[in-house]
Amino acid sequence: MTTVIDGKAAAAALRADLALKVADLKRDHGLTPGLAVVLVGEDPASQVYVRNKAKQTVEVGMESIEHKLPADTQEADLLALIDTLNADDTVHGILVQLPLPSHINEFKVINAVSHDKDVDGFHLVNVGRLNTDGGGVVPCTPLGCLMMLKEHHGDLSGMNAVIVGRSNIVGKPMAALLLQANCTVTIAHSRTKDLESICREADILVAAVGRPRMVPGSWVKPGATVIDVGINRIEEDGKNRLVGDVDYDSAAAVAGAITPVPGGVGPMTIACLLHNTVQQAKRLKGIE
Ligand code: NDP
Repeated sequence: MTTVIDGKAAAAALRADLALKVADLKRDHGLTPGLAVVLVGEDPASQVYVRNKAKQTVEVGMESIEHKLPADTQEADLLALIDTLNADDTVHGILVQLPLPSHINEFKVINAVSHDKDVDGFHLVNVGRLNTDGGGVVPCTPLGCLMMLKEHHGDLSGMNAVIVGRSNIVGKPMAALLLQANCTVTIAHSRTKDLESICREADILVAAVGRPRMVPGSWVKPGATVIDVGINRIEEDGKNRLVGDVDYDSAAAVAGAITPVPGGVGPMTIACLLHNTVQQAKRLKGIE
């Protein structure tokens, strides 16, 4: 029997725990963690993400601060806003929704956010810490994946983990986390040879590619745990569907456990953003 790893339930449990922590911070320290979200332009998917993030921030008792800027905002003006937020004591987390319009340098913007207020884990200091002492803020999507893996397996030591995808926001930080958890890690990408055989060796298979249903069940080792990070919108049978990078039906027939799309990694990503905001608020105030 395949276990379906329920990301929605895991995210709800994490949010409930965070709501208690936020209430404690308010009562014991007079601290209300504040998350500022900056959206540049009118990308419909980004608007939905920002709305969901703001709603869930408020639901756990934190302060949500939204800055919506027009698509033709100049880079200098965005950097000036980030400076203001960096200096604002009521703001403990700053998230600049990506992608940014092409005339703005994303790298510059990401690294303009103070690393103490970076809740995405994309700042160079946090990337460096993830790959050295592991003490910084961890990117939300891989953190959510790791939490679900630990919840399901407990100790991951010695497991063979294969990650398909090497992006800075998912693949690479996922590899760093699994390495820290004492897995033997392989990172595959578009130039990898014989991807199928490599995937079939995996006790933990993470797909973060952005190609609908690319990983079929025949690539999955019987009993393996499959984490599907992909979010792809496709037209099928006249309907608009959301599917992962894994062919769910054939993979679920072989896997020991699998995350569905939707309802797997996605909900955990936002819950981990709230987790990171609470973590940064505590650090900024010197609370253990
Ligand atoms: P990127 O496009 O940045 O990276 C995709 C990676 O997949 C690259 O490393 C690329 O290799 C690799 N790749 C592409 N084609 C192949 C192939 N045929 N075989 C093997 N590897 C391949 O994507 P992201 O990491 O940003 O996102 C991946 C997926 O996860 C997307 O569907 C995205 O929507 C989703 N996502 C979901 C989130 C969530 O909350 N659930 C959050 C973030 C992303 P190469 O480097 O060689 O080009």
